[in-house]
Amino acid sequence: MSINLQPFRKLQLVAYMDYLPVFLKIKNRPCLIVGGGEIAARKAELLLRAGADLTVVAPEIGADVAGLKKTGVISHEQREFSPQDLQAQTLVVAATDDPALNQQVSDLARKIALPVNVVDQPNLCSFIMPSIVDRSPVIVAVSTGGASPVLARLMRARLETLIPASFGQLALLAREFRDQVKKRFKESGRRRRFWEHVLDGPIAEMTFAGRTDAARRELRHELGAGPDSFPLTGEVYLVGAGPGDPDLLTSRALRLMQRADVVVHDRLVSEAVLRLARKDAPRIYAGKERSRHMLPQESINQLLVRLAREGKRVLRLKGGDPFIFGRGGEEIDTLAAEGIPFQIVPGITAASGCAAYAGIPLTHRDYAQSCVFVTGHLKDGSTDLDWDALAKPQQTIVIYMGLIGLPVICQQLIKRGLPEDLPAALVERGTTPNQRIFTGTLTSLPEIVDSANVRAPTLTIIGEVVKLHGKLQWFESHAAAASKNIA
Ligand code: SAH
Repeated sequence: MSINLQPFRKLQLVAYMDYLPVFLKIKNRPCLIVGGGEIAARKAELLLRAGADLTVVAPEIGADVAGLKKTGVISHEQREFSPQDLQAQTLVVAATDDPALNQQVSDLARKIALPVNVVDQPNLCSFIMPSIVDRSPVIVAVSTGGASPVLARLMRARLETLIPASFGQLALLAREFRDQVKKRFKESGRRRRFWEHVLDGPIAEMTFAGRTDAARRELRHELGAGPDSFPLTGEVYLVGAGPGDPDLLTSRALRLMQRADVVVHDRLVSEAVLRLARKDAPRIYAGKERSRHMLPQESINQLLVRLAREGKRVLRLKGGDPFIFGRGGEEIDTLAAEGIPFQIVPGITAASGCAAYAGIPLTHRDYAQSCVFVTGHLKDGSTDLDWDALAKPQQTIVIYMGLIGLPVICQQLIKRGLPEDLPAALVERGTTPNQRIFTGTLTSLPEIVDSANVRAPTLTIIGEVVKLHGKLQWFESHAAAASKNIA
């Protein structure tokens, strides 16, 4: 079976990070600060926390740097900066109030590829300092790339509350047992399960409660039980990824996305959502495009079975909700028949997502008492629906996969008695920054598809409720400017 990874290789190569986060080892390494004021003192304290062998060059120093000097944790060169100061340094921070001097330090450092930070001047920096949540040895660094230090601080504050103060203790415990566990659990999959069990269960709780000795005893006990008590059982998580906006994922979806060993996803799952899956879990693209299937459904079902049999936790990620025009039923059917454990996580279906982000309520006491979801694309490629059931007053019709069949659908609905000027909308790539909305009527809709070059994925909403879009629209996508209101 051929698995096509190509589309994602391409996407992953797009450079969207302005900086590469790294953790630099400066313990006992020579580091330099140019400047002796208050800001220099803050930077000095930070570098000292990481064990730097620190020199401060400044003709004058403030009280804080003087305090550090007195305790003997820094060396102070009481003079102007000289280019030789940069020799054999691990990094340099310029924290003076002399712009020309800061510029000089930056230029000289870059010439010899010495990492340089100039306080509050990102354009002169080859590295920037993140906001830090310190649970050493666990360190979380947050950066907005210099865009907004206040935002970075707010994020840090949130993380502070999320990460228990004793997280560092847990990491120390893990470090203590790391080699023993490696010896006892030779196989990496089982070893990871063991660690997940330790770090996400009662042993972690004991550590957080300060009962480190009890945690250590328990860990030793579990280690004694050995690999056989941690069987590698595979499982499949059939997860709805929602219509595109990653904020619309459920908490459970997020949790399982972090747990999975391998991700099998289709074309509709947005890159923004995929980025939230575990970074080291391989992605398999099982995308389906209308009539150009990357993997036939049968192979997808078999692939899920095979991966689960290998003991993997398989994340089967589907756009929207897996049970709404998502073939989730067929995939689960195979798993059930093969006795593979699975979980199903609902997602926000395109109809809900697009309706909400377009400001079109699907039902409304004045306009629609019922709402039907239909697919405009049948298994055999035709478009043949129960037209009489659809062509009812006071009913909203939502059409999935309907672009190709749209002219036929509109014609048939008019033929069965719906008004030619019944409002209708197309929502292209709903809930994403590229969302475009077009409104028109049963008569004009097919023309709009052509004139505005509307592409899949697009959802069609037909009914009086579409009138409300003008008043209730709220979501501004990047593409909003390009969207036109064609009546
Ligand atoms: N299981 C999915 C639907 C899969 S069928 C769900 O519950 O949403 C694929 C069709 O869904 C597309 O052809 C399109 O009509 C619709 N769709 C999915 N995501 C969409 C989006 N972000 N914007 C507009 N339509 C979308």
